[in-house]
Amino acid sequence: MPDTAPTSWPARAEASSFFGFTDLPSVRERGTVVLTRGEGPYVIDSEGRRYLDANSGLWNMVAGFDHAGLAQAAKAQYDRFPGYHSFFGRMSDQTVMLSEKLVEVSPFPRGRVFYTNSGSEANDTLVKMLWFLGRAEGAPERRKILTRVNGYHGVTVAAASMTGKPYNALFGLPLPGFLHLTCPHYWREGGPGESEAAFTARLADELEEVIAREGAETIAGFFAEPVIGAGGVIPPPEGYFQAIGPILKRHGIPLISDEVICGFGRTGEVWGCESYDFTPDAIVASKALTAGYFPMGAVILGPDLADRMQAASEAVEEFPHGFTASGHPVGCAIALKAIDVILNEGLLDNVRALTPQFEAGLARLAEHRNIGEWRGRGLMGALEAVADKATKTPFPAELSVSERVANACTDHGLICRPLGQSIVLCPPFIMTEAQMDEMFEKLEASLERVFAEVA
Ligand code: PMP
Repeated sequence: MPDTAPTSWPARAEASSFFGFTDLPSVRERGTVVLTRGEGPYVIDSEGRRYLDANSGLWNMVAGFDHAGLAQAAKAQYDRFPGYHSFFGRMSDQTVMLSEKLVEVSPFPRGRVFYTNSGSEANDTLVKMLWFLGRAEGAPERRKILTRVNGYHGVTVAAASMTGKPYNALFGLPLPGFLHLTCPHYWREGGPGESEAAFTARLADELEEVIAREGAETIAGFFAEPVIGAGGVIPPPEGYFQAIGPILKRHGIPLISDEVICGFGRTGEVWGCESYDFTPDAIVASKALTAGYFPMGAVILGPDLADRMQAASEAVEEFPHGFTASGHPVGCAIALKAIDVILNEGLLDNVRALTPQFEAGLARLAEHRNIGEWRGRGLMGALEAVADKATKTPFPAELSVSERVANACTDHGLICRPLGQSIVLCPPFIMTEAQMDEMFEKLEASLERVFAEVA
C-alpha cells in the first residue's frame, strides 16, 4: 500500500486499474482521463473538462451520452423484469421481440438470432457454429477461417485469431487454420500503375488461389467487415464484394458480414452490406445495436445457416453454447428502443444529411501536404498522415504522429482516435452541423500543431 492514498480520480484510476489498448508511456506522461458524465456528443471528465467525442465512445454511442428515451427503456424494463437467460427453452418476451425486429430489418427474408454480450463473443459464437455444422454434416475437416490483414474482429481467442494485426504475435496467435488475405486497401496495397479494378481482380484471384491451395472442403467461412473499422477505416475497392461473393458461393463457403461497426446506420444504410450491395450468409452485430447503452452482441443467421444450424442441433439434441446474459431482457428492451430511435427518430437520416459535410471536411484536411489520403463512408472516416505525400512514405513509427495528433485534439477538447498512421473519426449520429464544424476546426488546429513539430 502506498503511504498516502491517491486522492484525484486520475490517480485513483492509475493505482487501481489495468488498462487495455492503451499507450501506457503516453498515459504515464499525460495522465488518465476519468469521465463522469455526458451531454449529447460531449463527455465531461472529473476535472470538469469537456470533450466533443468524435469517436462515439468506441464507435457505439451513436445516440449521444444522455438520450432520455434509452435510459427510460432501461428503467422500465428493470422495473418489469430485470434479468434472464436464454437457455433451456426459456427466454424473455423482449428477447423474442428483438429477434423478430432484427430479422425484419436484416437483409434476410427469414433467419434466426443468437445473443452474446459483445462483438468478440458473437464472432467466436459464429466460428463455433461453423465448426459445429462441419462436424454435424460429416465434414469435420471444414474448420479454416478466412479473413483479411488489418481486419478487426475482436479479442477473444477465435475473434483475435481472425483479427489481422501484428500484436496477435504477443499472444502466440492466431490459432492454426486462421488465414489472412491481403488487406483490401487500394491506396496502400495497389501496385504501381494498377487500376482499382485490377486491384480488385487481383484480390479475387488471391482468394481463388487460397481456396485451391487449402481445399474448399477445409474452409468453414470468410469473415469481412464491409468497411474495415479498427484497421483504419478502409472501404473496399470498387466491386470487391461483387468479385469475391460469387467465388465463395461457388465453393460453398459462407460469407459473414461483421457489422459490429457498420451495422445500424454508420455507413448511411442500416447495414454495411446494403451500402456495398451484397447479401451475406450471416451478420454479426453489436455496438450501435444498443446505441452503446448495454453490452450486447448478436449473430443473425440467414435462412440457409439458420435451417442447417437448427437441423444439426436437433440431431444431437442441443447447440451446447450460450452466455449467462445471452438475450438479457434489459439489453433487448434497450436495443428495441435504439433501433427505433435510429430508424424512426431521424438518426439514420442525420447520418445521410451530415455525410457530405463530413466528406468535405475530410477532403479539405487531406489537402495538407502531410495527409496522404482521406477515406470514409457515411459517418466513419480517416486521414492518413505521411512524411512524403508523393511517395506515400509514412512518418517513422517512433514519432508516434497519430498519437500526438490525438493528444493535441484532447488538449483542444476533442476526442478522436489514432490508428496506425491514421486519425479516425466516427461521430455520433446525433451531431449537428455546428458540432461537426467544431470537430474539424479542433482537428485542423491539432494537425497543424503536430505537423509543425515533426514535419
Ligand atoms: N468486430 C468489429 C468489426 C469490431 O469493430 C469490434 C470492436 N471494435 C469487434 C468485432 C469486437 O467487439 P467487442 O469489442 O464488443 O468485443
